[in-house]
Parts: sequence; structure tokens; C-alpha cells
Amino acid sequence: MKVMRLPGLAFILLLQGCNISAPAPGPDFPTSEMADIVFYNGTVITMNEDYPEGQAIAIKGKKILGVGTSLQALATANRTTQLIDLKGKTIMPGIVDAHTHVFNDRDRFGLDLPGAQELLFKNGITSLGNLFCTEEFVAEMRAFEPLLKVKTSLFLTKTFPCGEIQDSWYHGYPATRTPGEVLRINGIKITADGGTCGGMAVSEEFIPGTTGLGDLWHTQDEINAMVLEADKAGYQVAIHAIGDRAIEQAQNAIAYALDGRPNVLRHRIEHNSAIRPDLIPRYSEFGIIPVIFGWKKICDFYPRSPFYEAADFPYRTLIDYDPDLPVAWHGDDPYRGPVNPFIELHSMVTRTEVSETGALCTPPSWLAAQTIPVQTALKLMTLNAAYSLFRDDETGSLQTGKYADLIVLSANPLTIDPQDIHGIEVQLTMANGEIVYRLPASGL
Ligand SMILES: [Zn+2]
Repeated sequence: MKVMRLPGLAFILLLQGCNISAPAPGPDFPTSEMADIVFYNGTVITMNEDYPEGQAIAIKGKKILGVGTSLQALATANRTTQLIDLKGKTIMPGIVDAHTHVFNDRDRFGLDLPGAQELLFKNGITSLGNLFCTEEFVAEMRAFEPLLKVKTSLFLTKTFPCGEIQDSWYHGYPATRTPGEVLRINGIKITADGGTCGGMAVSEEFIPGTTGLGDLWHTQDEINAMVLEADKAGYQVAIHAIGDRAIEQAQNAIAYALDGRPNVLRHRIEHNSAIRPDLIPRYSEFGIIPVIFGWKKICDFYPRSPFYEAADFPYRTLIDYDPDLPVAWHGDDPYRGPVNPFIELHSMVTRTEVSETGALCTPPSWLAAQTIPVQTALKLMTLNAAYSLFRDDETGSLQTGKYADLIVLSANPLTIDPQDIHGIEVQLTMANGEIVYRLPASGL
């Protein structure tokens, strides 16, 4: 009976003027299950290489039934299905921020935990890594868990920002990898150099005669021992390393712990601002995930020594060296300015930047050479960031069986003038199949 009724529904929508024809139908679309919500008549950027773009998406419960043409998606609708006409708008996966502090530094925004979650959803972030977690913070998040909807992965603090080594308190909190769990312990965080406290550890001065060589907090033996101990206990390790001396030390420590084995625990290096050219191949050699910044703050730019013009934010060079390396994006908010992934995307794609006052700043030529193609930058902010959090089986792309974490945008980042990307607005956010944010003026 359903089969008879549903083409009728699609036919009525066709008469209403919807464009429901599309060249390529989506794969794996179920024929027997009915959707709770269908978004149709738009563009769906899937981040799924087998089916990069559809017109519509059908949701059942917390998960995606299928992505395909409007006709396919509407065929999964019945009388109780909520139909949302996108009117040509774009859907993409919810943003995954591999490393942020919006929850643990919510006071800086004047927010409580529910308020911080609202701020994340308003900006399209549906999954994140929280990279500063004391035992007290873990207890706060566990108390908030019944209301938590952002997929949150915790990295427990082994060393503080000035390098103070803590005991192995995290052994009371084993790492978990259960698909679909909203709150999860992923691993531990080690801080190798300055940045938050003191200066990044570099091989040569950024500005000769003035900036110094920064602070490396640990000896190689100390950091080797910390990474090895955590690796043996099954924890993913995230090492803060901004300057090249710290990056080299972090790479060495991960290589030491792996001892020739593949990096199955997905140990990562955070920030990676100043990567000396000789360090670039070593991420691939050991399978280490680089977690990189989008926004650089070039508006208050200061000059570099020629040595660092070739080594500061060399992210296009890194990606071109090994396109299969799962480079992940992080916002590191609130330390890096506004919580706005589209300002970050704009920055990665153009290297032009929007300042905190809204002015556009143009990059110096060495930085302008490091623009990242928009499709690649989107992958850094979705699928690759999800991989860095062990969530790539759950989220980061839109395809049958994954959780329905998605956002509706005012414009398509793949087709808009790149210089306008920063103005893209998140109009609706869905997490686990639930609409958790809707811009009132969007008409959605
Ligand atoms: Zn951070």
C-alpha cells in the first residue's frame, strides 16, 4: 500500500514546482523503511567519495536512511514524516572540531554548559574533542551527560600548559570506543612546548634578536615514557606541539612508543604551527595525525625570519606531500577568536582573513602559497576530524547508517566565491537526528 501512495506524494510535489529530477540516484536507499524527517530539493554535500552530492536526505530515528534524489528520499515518507523543503539550500555534515575548549572554558563566554552547547550548535559544530580535562571537569561533564547532545571526546590532562607533569590519575577512566556514545574518554593530553604558557619551541628565532627559542617542557626521555605508558594502557595520545623543536620531539616520542607498529590508537600532534621541511614526511612515516589551525590571525601579523616563512603554517605543502594523511582541523576556541567554522574555512581556502573587527586582511606571499582547496578543507573539518576522534564510523559524512549530524547552510561552500565563504550562515543544525538549532529567519 505504501508503495502505491508514495509516488503520489512525489507527484504532488512535482506539480508544486519542485525540481525532483536528478541525474544520479543515491546508493543503498532502503525500500522498506519509512523516514521521520526528509530534507529535499537542495544540494547535499556528503563527504562520501562514492556519492559526493545528492539532492535530499532521509532520516529515521538518530540515523541516516539514505542520501539521493528528492524522489528517492520522498519515497521513504509517509503521513507522519516531517518534510523540509530546502528550496535549493545546501546541507553538509555537522562540523567536527578536533580540539576545542568551548565546554571547559565556557566562563570566558559567560556561559554555563547548556549555553556552551547552544553556542556550538548555532555554529554548526556537532562533534568535538575537548583537550583540557581535569578529574573535576570529567565529573562535570558526566553530570551534564543526560543533556549532552554534541558528540564529545575527552582527552585527560597528563601535563598542564606550563609542562607540569601530573600522576596517572586517568587510569580510573579507561578509554572507550563504543559507536554512538555521546560522551567518551579518548585518551590523554601532553603539552610539549609553550604557546599557552611561555613560547613555542623553535630552532631559530621568528624575529632575529627578539623572540628567543621558546620553551620545551620535557626531555625526550620524559615524553617517550609518558607516551609509551599511555599507549600500553590503550589511550590515544594528543601532544601539544606548536614549534618545530616540539613537533620533532612529539614525532620521536610517538615513533618510540609504536616501535615500528602501525598507529592504531591514532596518536595525534596538536597545533603544528611551525613545521620544518624535514619534519613533513615523518607524519606519514609513522602514521601520525596532524591537527592544524584554520585561522592564523594574520591581521596582527608580524614579520618572520626567512627560515620560518618556509615553515610557518605550511599546510598545503603537508597535504600535497601525502594526500592520504588524515590531517584534521581544530578551532582551539576560545584561544583562537570567534567560534565560527566558516571564518576558519575561509581562511584555509583563501589565506585571506577576517579580523575580529570584521576587516579582511591579505596574506604575505609565502602564506598565500599555502591555500587549501575547498573540498579538501571541508574534509579536514568533517571526516578527517572525525577520524582523529575515532568517530569516522559514526559521523563526518552523510551516508546510510551514520548518525544524522548535519547542517543547513545559506550558501554552498563548494560553489560560492571563496572570498564570500566567511559569510556563510548556519541556518539549521541536526545532531543524532534531532533538530537542535534553527535560525528563525531561515524559513526552514
Ligand atoms: Zn587547545
